[in-house]
Amino acid sequence: MNVQFDNVNTVLCLGSHADDIEIGCGGTILRLLELNPQLTVYWVVLSGSDVRAGEARRSAERFLEEAAESRIITKSFRDSFFPYCGEEIKEFFFELQSQVSPDLILTHRREDMHQDHRVVSELTWNTFRRHQILEYEIPKYEGDLGTPNVFVPLSQATAQEKVDAIVESFPSQADKPWFTADTFWSLMRIRGIEANADSQFAEGLYCRKMSILTTGSGPAQTAAATSFSADSLANAAGSVS
Ligand SMILES: [Zn+2]
Repeated sequence: MNVQFDNVNTVLCLGSHADDIEIGCGGTILRLLELNPQLTVYWVVLSGSDVRAGEARRSAERFLEEAAESRIITKSFRDSFFPYCGEEIKEFFFELQSQVSPDLILTHRREDMHQDHRVVSELTWNTFRRHQILEYEIPKYEGDLGTPNVFVPLSQATAQEKVDAIVESFPSQADKPWFTADTFWSLMRIRGIEANADSQFAEGLYCRKMSILTTGSGPAQTAAATSFSADSLANAAGSVS
């Protein structure tokens, strides 16, 4: 069974820090743009100094080059202190909710060990209740990777595009030992094995709930109809393709 997102026209990507969205779901975004040149993307980075915000903006512009429309929003909530400035961040989420009703939201994973990531994940679910949400993963020192249940197979060229863009867009991170091309390649390679991807590479995402075969109402109904085509057994798990 191959899950298709047929009517995804607006995507909201949420990241606590500059580079989170790119690392977690940059390939998925490139793939969505390849499938739908009419896509509108809201790209929100919630913290960062001026330097980091500049890098985040340039990186987002690079990833969203092919988007029909894009809106890049950078905020300056205090890095590493999100649980302690939750009120302000929650206010911002309400503001965001009044501005965009996305067909698909890509956000941090609820079990992420970084406190800022968890706050963003919780507020995403708290704020957007009639939208399809998929959570992405970020490798880190704490070792919190899980078992994704949604895979987006990526061609080697798309995986390369993602890695190049990340490594080249964030010079301020170059001195961090983990911020290397092989970190990003290795996770995509492992997820590619789990996805049984012909291309060998994939991103893993986490889906907590999804309404299917909907008639236009329901708790997690999304503007995008999620259709199933049973003609492909290419992937054991669902894949956004
Ligand atoms: Zn982060």
